[in-house]
Amino acid sequence: MDSGRRVLVTGGAGFIGSHLCERLLAQGSEVLCVDNFFTSTRSGLVHLMDDPRFELMRHDVCFPLYVEVENIYNLACPASPVSYQMDPVQTTKTSVHGAINMLGLAKRLKAKILQASTSEVYGDPAVHPQPEEYWGNVNPIGPRSCYDEGKRCAETLFFDYHRMHQLRIKVARIFNTYGPRMQMNDGRVVSNFVVQALRNKDITVYGDGEQTRSFCYIDDMVDGLIRLMESGDSITGPINLGNPGEFTIRELAEIVLNITGSSSKIVHRPLPMDDPKQRKPNISRAQELLNWRPTVKLREGLARTVAYFEKQIASEPLKTV
Ligand code: NAD
Ligand code: UDP
Repeated sequence: MDSGRRVLVTGGAGFIGSHLCERLLAQGSEVLCVDNFFTSTRSGLVHLMDDPRFELMRHDVCFPLYVEVENIYNLACPASPVSYQMDPVQTTKTSVHGAINMLGLAKRLKAKILQASTSEVYGDPAVHPQPEEYWGNVNPIGPRSCYDEGKRCAETLFFDYHRMHQLRIKVARIFNTYGPRMQMNDGRVVSNFVVQALRNKDITVYGDGEQTRSFCYIDDMVDGLIRLMESGDSITGPINLGNPGEFTIRELAEIVLNITGSSSKIVHRPLPMDDPKQRKPNISRAQELLNWRPTVKLREGLARTVAYFEKQIASEPLKTV
């Protein structure tokens, strides 16, 4: 185990990052969390602030960073389509300039570096389930391209630094991940449905709801990321990390309604452009090379997520008219 190491987590205040920082501290690492708070606040980290091995720095990865660490997890990038389309040029810059800056840092320090890539590199996949060998079906000029192409270019940079400078790289292709500490309003499907159900508001299914996704609980994802970072240097990835259980979006809405006992109605809204029709990871590589597979079933993970959002909603100040 990489305990006792000094580890940098960029995007560490975000949903996955905050859980990763917590787990790394628990296993004995010193953690430097870097974030510009574009889609997050300090709130996901308050419980870590008193730990002397934890440090938080406000910084935008589009600019060079001079720190001393042994391992780098590069997670900085908005992940929800609503957030990454808010300022698409900034999204591409974060992925590309961010990767160049963090790879430059890793090169100077001879550090190991892990990139949080995404299932979006497969675009609207024509191969199902998606294995790492599949090159994808990505629109280069659509509303999702800033994210998809930014992440694809970041993968290119990682492999070029590996070939040119023998950098120790790890590329994780993360599939839809959910759980406590997602931002209530970040626009992703799980947080939207759970919050809508808890407030007895309409559940907004985009399109006919027949598109599929595979949802991985946050604890499983963090476990996979750490296993990948700690794997031997010959394991560069890309490696799919995700839960192969596949559900239609309509099924997800029904499960959320069932768990919450909500009186919300399902309503349909237009399907966003280029919304992938199907998504499910082939995780044979992760199973074989990392001995990793997700353990938390969707209903169980959703129940924990619902409990989290219930608390969040209960702690909101009452609105006076
Ligand atoms: P998130 O939006 O909750 O967290 C991203 C964090 O990065 C935020 O704290 C944000 O403020 C920070 N950030 C954004 N731009 C930055 C910049 N220029 N400099 C410094 N910090 C910056 O998203 P998440 O779900 O935690 O995702 C984390 C990473 O995992 C992202 O790189 C994302 O692309 C990848 N990923 C996530 C999922 C998922 O389902 N959650 C799926 C695929 C890939
Ligand atoms: N979606 C939906 N209702 C919502 C939010 C999302 O039906 O309120 C759909 C969206 O169109 C997509 C799927 O849920 O088909 C997953 O969307 P999300 O934004 O979570 O992530 P994506 O996998 O598309 O990046």
